[in-house]
Amino acid sequence: MSQVDGTRPERQQSDARRRIPRTDRLLSNPDIASAAARLGEQSVRDVVREVQDSARRGELDPDEVESVICEALARRRVGSGRGVLNATGVVVHTNLGRASLSGAACDAVLDACGYVDVELDLESGTRSRRGAATRAALLRACPAANDALMVNNGAAAMVLATTALAAGREVVISRGEMIEIGAGFRLTDLIESTGARLREVGTTNRTHPGDYARAIADGDVGCVLKVHPSNYRVSGFTAEATIAEIAEITVGQGVPLIADLGSGLLVPDATLPDEPDASSALTAGADLVIASGDKLLGGPQAGILLGDVDLIARLAKHPLARAVRADKLALAAMEATLTGPTPPVTEYLHADPDLLRARTESVATAIGGVDVVPHDGRVGGGGAPGVPLPGWAIRLPERAAHALRTGVPAVLPRVHDGACLVDLRCIPHADDATVAAAVRRALDSAGPGSAD
Ligand SMILES: *Cc1c(COP(=O)(O)O)cnc(C)c1O
Repeated sequence: MSQVDGTRPERQQSDARRRIPRTDRLLSNPDIASAAARLGEQSVRDVVREVQDSARRGELDPDEVESVICEALARRRVGSGRGVLNATGVVVHTNLGRASLSGAACDAVLDACGYVDVELDLESGTRSRRGAATRAALLRACPAANDALMVNNGAAAMVLATTALAAGREVVISRGEMIEIGAGFRLTDLIESTGARLREVGTTNRTHPGDYARAIADGDVGCVLKVHPSNYRVSGFTAEATIAEIAEITVGQGVPLIADLGSGLLVPDATLPDEPDASSALTAGADLVIASGDKLLGGPQAGILLGDVDLIARLAKHPLARAVRADKLALAAMEATLTGPTPPVTEYLHADPDLLRARTESVATAIGGVDVVPHDGRVGGGGAPGVPLPGWAIRLPERAAHALRTGVPAVLPRVHDGACLVDLRCIPHADDATVAAAVRRALDSAGPGSAD
């Protein structure tokens, strides 16, 4: 800028820079000022500076600065998280936040945002049990349980249960059930972190009731843990002791039997015949069942503990319960998931293949020039590995995937075998036209020969 003998283009550029609107003038624009009320002063200043900088670099005409800022602010959300249309066919998609909440659950969250009676009895004006309505909803949804407690997540439920029942003592667990869940998270490490000692019984492929009986007879056992190895399967020469068989042993010894089911099915589901459920586990003799709220239950992130009244009371009274207690928003979302209309996870899991095919073909027609192919969806979230959910997908060239992911709205397809597959199973029917438009844009922008 201090150059004296500036050539003509440089002088033109510095003239242009002088025409970039000043910050105070931009901030007095009513649209920009009202955006500050919605997004916060600092976020608006950041956008203003970004756009001014882009004009200073000559990437933008100074006359467009104001309108570009207004457009950017109109699109901007307070949080940076972006909604994604899940076109993978994976119902409980961990990287997409697992379960998609029902409209009823979203409404309940909004209602719970302000002050709410989460721990207050309005009738008497006195303090009440936290989340009483959610507890009641859980007990109605799983009548085999005598009591229920909701905590932050499944892992927290496990920590609370093993700490309260077995810290300084042994947790008996089959070697066939010592699982890693994902991202290096090992259940056994978590249990040991509570100060409980693992008492491994059986072998990787075979564990018998007698293995549990011997461990209980000669150990200092706090609880027996039966884990559903949700994300893998041992096949061939295998044996496991059932909950009923283990319960026969533990009940006489006064040792609590905990079943960690993971998936969150509260009652059996014919679509997933091998997936255990809380009702069956409790009926078979488990004293406590642990499940996640945001897997097949289809609710918010939560850990659900169901079962014996005295055991739940012990857990609820433990100091650690306070550190893992459920948030009021999650309690509200869980109650609405259980009492409201069928949540999306359940709907997507049971989607009728013929209806999926008709939807997929009509979206394919709207796009034009693309094929519909059979495509199996999955439960996901570590649940029901190897169980295909028959369905359909639109087959696109692999290079469309990047444009779909980075478009607005973002669409996450499945990339498999050199193709980009768009599966409508986990997409609300009302968004079919949005998906068709997104695919057309992706195909246009990706171009016939360009790389992904
Ligand atoms: C998913 C899962 C967990 C962990 O639950 P989070 O809610 O993710 O903390 C524990 N045990 C099993 C068997 C699981 O499948």
